[in-house]
Amino acid sequence: MADRMLQFVRLPQAQPEKRDLAERRTDFGEIYREYTQAAAAAQASRCSQCGVPFCSVHCPLQNNIPDWLKLTAEGRLEEAYEVSSATNTFPEICGRICPQDRLCEGNCVIEKGFESVTIGAVERYITDTAWERGWVSPPTPRVELPHSIGIIGAGPAGLAVAERLRRRGWGVHVYDRHDRVGGLMIYGIPNFKLEKAVVLRRWRQFEAGGIRFHLDCVVGRDVTLAELRARHDAVFIATGVYRPRDIDCPGLGLDGVVPALDYLTASNRNNLGDAVAGFDSGALDARGKRVVVVGGGDTAMDCVRTAVRQGAAAVTCLYRRDRANMPGSMREVKNAEEEGVRFEWQAAPEAFVGKDGHVAAVRATRMHLGLPDATGRQGVAPVPGSGFELPCDLAIKALGFDPEDVPAMFDEPALAVTRWGTLKINHRTFMTSLPGVFAGGDIVRGASLVVWAIRDGRDAAEQIETWVRARAEPARAAA
Ligand SMILES: Cc1cc2nc3c(=O)[nH]c(=O)nc-3n(C[C@H](O)[C@H](O)[C@H](O)COP(=O)(O)OP(=O)(O)OC[C@H]3O[C@@H](n4cnc5c(N)ncnc54)[C@H](O)[C@@H]3O)c2cc1C
Repeated sequence: MADRMLQFVRLPQAQPEKRDLAERRTDFGEIYREYTQAAAAAQASRCSQCGVPFCSVHCPLQNNIPDWLKLTAEGRLEEAYEVSSATNTFPEICGRICPQDRLCEGNCVIEKGFESVTIGAVERYITDTAWERGWVSPPTPRVELPHSIGIIGAGPAGLAVAERLRRRGWGVHVYDRHDRVGGLMIYGIPNFKLEKAVVLRRWRQFEAGGIRFHLDCVVGRDVTLAELRARHDAVFIATGVYRPRDIDCPGLGLDGVVPALDYLTASNRNNLGDAVAGFDSGALDARGKRVVVVGGGDTAMDCVRTAVRQGAAAVTCLYRRDRANMPGSMREVKNAEEEGVRFEWQAAPEAFVGKDGHVAAVRATRMHLGLPDATGRQGVAPVPGSGFELPCDLAIKALGFDPEDVPAMFDEPALAVTRWGTLKINHRTFMTSLPGVFAGGDIVRGASLVVWAIRDGRDAAEQIETWVRARAEPARAAA
């Protein structure tokens, strides 16, 4: 091993090349090129195989990262794929969009001066290779069991449950209000981070394995939760969080002031070849416009970078804290800066100023960063007399998301929620207040990450199986 690993002492970190700036600013293709096998092996060999792998500890899936890095360094890619896919339903997706700088790579123990192993890029390389070489198999079970599950929501949480239970022989039915599978992976996250073909090929594999998708099906309208409970042995709710947070300032009703997800969904659908009314009319297209995005998270970064690619005249991000306090991934902030986005740090909107009913400017004020509060986050306060105006034709609000009123949506007042409106579950069993109804992903955690949704789905699948089997056994014994 000593020959192959620990190469960080002589080999510098090399992330996959980014596509040429001039090219990538004008299309929606992913910005990182794929490693060659030699580059993946070389970068994997930088791993120090440390005794306590903090990369695994800080991975929500506890992926066995040092093991698959070593196998990659040795050219044993099929085994590397087996190890990486044993703990992760979508390693190729996590390889692309996990904020590795805050998770595995951010906790790599290689001395700071040497820089971490490029874990995400190697993970992506392994799984893309597995797809190319036909090692990724549909979740076809060996035996069919009499159990069935109804899953509400075809995002990563719902899909992770679907995959686990289908492989074990369950009848799996996934209900989603959208016409495509993937949740925010298909209509939220833009192509330049996650090309849609990567999500669509999983959908095809899942169908090939016998998972039944009921699309364009709004639970609460086309079918009730009570009907799904009667139809299946268990139900898993993974409906995500979609209610946009708003700002309290004048001018919100002006044309051209839009919520982030409307904007991103229109762009994603347009890239998938759909006719989108708001996009085709120009209302949700940034072409030629001066765009101001309010917010500093991943959604805001996705909006600014989408606007650049649509050919906006200028793109500015308005964020009330400073760069160091941004909640989004630093890698994405850097990409946005490279692509020409201007950041107005420590600035917040006071009003959207209109002309003939359409937004014409954002009036903003500078913010002062105060002392950290109990959570460690610095408070903010407006700096008196610091107001300024940014000319603007399209203002995008990217201030985060809250849950919809799920008990009302499903007409089930007995479904308990927390004070934040997320579903209340027993965190050991994943069961909600309704027997046999389980939940996970963003609708339980609040807006989070794909990797956490996968974790919830995989853990919940175990618990669902335990619960259904426990109920089935006494019934069988009595018969
Ligand atoms: C713009 C944006 C960018 C992001 N970027 C990243 C990133 O780079 N990396 C990362 O890790 N995470 C990112 N996230 C977060 C990540 O996408 C979510 O945490 C994750 O998708 C949550 O998974 P989920 O399965 O809980 O819900 P979702 O992915 O939201 O899926 C929920 C599904 O439920 C369906 N649904 C809802 N209500 C009903 C109903 N009544 N009937 C039928 N179906 C219903 C929805 O149509 C949807 O398909 C981003 C989020 C956004 C908004």
